[in-house]
Amino acid sequence: MARYFGTNGARGTIEEFPPSIAKKLARGTAKYLGGGKILVARDGRLTGALYHEAITSGLLEEGCHVIDLGQVTSPTAEFMIKKIKANGLIIITASHNPPEYNGMKVVDRDGIAISKERAEKIEELAEKITEPKKRGTMEKYENASEDHISEIMKNVDVEKIRRRKPKLVLDCGNGMASLITPQLFKRMGCEVVPINSHVDGNFPGRPSEPIEANVQDMLKLVREIKADAGIAWDGDADRVAFANERGEYVIGDKVFALSVLLKLKAENKKAKVVTTVATSLAIEDIAKKYGAEVVYTKIGAPYLCEEMIKGGTIGGEEVGGVIWPEISLAKEGIYTAAKIVEALCEKPLSQWIAELPDYKNIKEKIVADEKKKTEIVEKMREYAKKNNLDYIDKDGIRINYKDGWVIVRASGTENYVRIFAEAKTAERAKQLINEHRKIIGE
Ligand code: MG
Repeated sequence: MARYFGTNGARGTIEEFPPSIAKKLARGTAKYLGGGKILVARDGRLTGALYHEAITSGLLEEGCHVIDLGQVTSPTAEFMIKKIKANGLIIITASHNPPEYNGMKVVDRDGIAISKERAEKIEELAEKITEPKKRGTMEKYENASEDHISEIMKNVDVEKIRRRKPKLVLDCGNGMASLITPQLFKRMGCEVVPINSHVDGNFPGRPSEPIEANVQDMLKLVREIKADAGIAWDGDADRVAFANERGEYVIGDKVFALSVLLKLKAENKKAKVVTTVATSLAIEDIAKKYGAEVVYTKIGAPYLCEEMIKGGTIGGEEVGGVIWPEISLAKEGIYTAAKIVEALCEKPLSQWIAELPDYKNIKEKIVADEKKKTEIVEKMREYAKKNNLDYIDKDGIRINYKDGWVIVRASGTENYVRIFAEAKTAERAKQLINEHRKIIGE
């Protein structure tokens, strides 16, 4: 069997990743998770019903007890694992990808997303399936969003929000956030103005990824109606982006940095921040201020989860996915939004953001085949070693300097080597990129 699982589960168009393969992989997953109670959730994609049918059949053929959560956000589904004490979860979603994509993400009983490496075992087991001899059972559970809302409200200072009554533009992007966020923020006492807030797998309102270019309507509306903030989610609502009260876009790494600041401020024991090797130095600066340790992982949510379970206080990545262990080990776009709304009841979002350490990031890519990818990364490693530099080699090579860092990393799915640099000024970041392009011969 070809490999289907990547960093974020198995994903593709219906030709690249047909439901028949999803069914086989569901059977492999059932064996891998040890059967029993398995949750299934899906997003609102047009092919969702097809994959749902295939995946539940696969699980039933392995004798599982399938608990169907229906259409819910990924963070809702992942929160339910602990709540229902399930042996695992399959989410049918392609996150922020275009409408023609779909996929499956597997999460184990501890709430840890299955990495590409662990999924090899699932693919191996799927290879060996024979004619089914078992027949599982199935039930529907329709209260997941409600359970999730209650849990979030337990962990947020709702009274503080009710007193301030912030006005929020919620851009659900026609994704799963539509089913939970207008309700949640209304119930917490906010004045809510939702847009793109009906589920539609064609994503008619905007492309699903909440990058600045895609959320212009939200930014404009925040200015027009003088809202306190705008919030935009990706298709499955694990990622979140903001607009401040001036309608200015707040990028993902600022969302993560602010989340870390809020969490560490409220924490009174020794804290550990878990993040990937591509994350801003702002995180180091905030951690230092609160005496917390920073642990770096490879890039990808499963690696963050694997580290978080060893006692992480908060985790996240630079594109705006934040893990709060009080809720689950999932990237939690909804709870992140609630915590930031709680904070902006104290002072405007622009002020919170202005107080964060500020760094400039430059991201470039170099076209390279497999052989060249290895060569480039090795050149970077040799350089770091030879010059006795401080470097991290968990995923590519990141060299840390006093005033910034550079990372060279081979893409797992495309023919690129990515080179990122960060420093206090864009000029210095660009200089770091240019110097290291010379070192690796590019
Ligand atoms: Mg997502």
